Amino acid sequence: MSKRIVILGAAESGVGAAALAKVKGFDVFVSDMGKIKESYKKVLDQYNVEWEEGQHTEALIMNADEVIKSPGIPEEAPMVVKLKEAGTPIISEIEFAGRYTDAKMVCITGSNGKTTTTTLIYHILKTAGYNVGLAGNIGRSLALQIAEGKTYDYYVIELSSFQLDNMYQFRANIAVLMNITPDHLDRYGNCMQNYTDSKMRILQNQTEEDAFIYWAEDPIIQQELPKYDIKAKMCPFSILHKDGMVGHILDGRYTLEQPTVFSMAQDELSLRGKHNMYNMLAAGIAAHMSGVADEKLKECLSNFEGVEHRLEKVADINGVQYINDSKATNVDACWYALDSMTTPTILIIGGKDKGNDYNAIKDLVKEKCAGIVYLGADNKKLHDFFDEMGIPTADTHSMKDCVDACNEMAKPGYTVLLSPCCASFDLFKNMEDRGEQFRERVMETKEK
Ligand code: ADP
Repeated sequence: MSKRIVILGAAESGVGAAALAKVKGFDVFVSDMGKIKESYKKVLDQYNVEWEEGQHTEALIMNADEVIKSPGIPEEAPMVVKLKEAGTPIISEIEFAGRYTDAKMVCITGSNGKTTTTTLIYHILKTAGYNVGLAGNIGRSLALQIAEGKTYDYYVIELSSFQLDNMYQFRANIAVLMNITPDHLDRYGNCMQNYTDSKMRILQNQTEEDAFIYWAEDPIIQQELPKYDIKAKMCPFSILHKDGMVGHILDGRYTLEQPTVFSMAQDELSLRGKHNMYNMLAAGIAAHMSGVADEKLKECLSNFEGVEHRLEKVADINGVQYINDSKATNVDACWYALDSMTTPTILIIGGKDKGNDYNAIKDLVKEKCAGIVYLGADNKKLHDFFDEMGIPTADTHSMKDCVDACNEMAKPGYTVLLSPCCASFDLFKNMEDRGEQFRERVMETKEK
């Protein structure tokens, strides 16, 4: 009898895992407590996978030999607890898919900067002519691509802490750890160490042949490294000093020291902002270590357009720059956005507050902002904190009113920056919807 694999959660990763398990000849069952999207049901049916929605039928789940859990399902979910008590192995989709490919795995994790760095590495490898796929938190699931018979030489994979939690044998040939700052603590028993341990799993199973790329100045990474017996080649990067660094940006030059020296002017880098310097160093090291030729690397670091909704230039209208950083859903991300501003800034801030402490950006707001436009269903906390700073403010509850208010405040030479520090669910479907509505309203201004 074939081994039974049960998949909990039928979204991108679960459906991909089910397709792959079926292709590999397992007895497969998919169970989702919620409703499964029509497009995913189609894929399940196409692969003849049995599935259920709106419930977990114990009898069909507890007889699994192995369970693949969607990263969205918490460890405390009753079904997961039962399976653990029964000793059933629970793994993630990436762990499962990793068993069926010999591709080199370039894996990126961290609290902020994952998507930008992952996309940039993919852009460089692809432009350099590598046979490369993109997977993980962005794009299509790794498992589905393997199920479809894709045979890439490289995969660039964005990994969340939730995916790392259920990875055991998987090995990243190139592991990138951007930073570790508090996030998702609700899923880690409000314990920062648990979240940190999860991020550090990116190192597990690495050998002498592999590389570990990380931000040298991150205080938590610094504190963690001595606890691990790391076999991989250490590749730290910094923008403060070059001692022992594989990558650094100093005195206006972007430099990679190994395996050969690569150097270009910082001015030629396409992205701006301190955080993007880290992202460009991490990506550059990963590409350089993978053998990308110098001229290709330089070309890609100069022409990479960035990722939508992350410090994305929307338009320049009558000398006013409009920038969409809708993905800045926490205070740390907004800090980096403000830090990168070089002209007087009208900051759009607000939304669903996650217990934010705005003190972290207070000095930067004082230094950089010529105006603040509040955009949220309830702006009281923003009024309480920012009003007394003496900077002109406006109170808005829709994107139309918000952009109108910005246009009134902005003078030629100013920048209007949407970098809201908050989640978007109070007024928008999601952060993409917020960014798109901003873009649309700004373009209407242009046409007027
Ligand atoms: P993630 O995929 O980890 O959420 P993104 O690349 O999507 O990261 O960026 C998310 C937000 O964080 C953006 O608003 C961006 O301006 C900010 N950001 C990007 N890279 C970094 C970094 N290295 N450090 C801190 N903040 C960053």
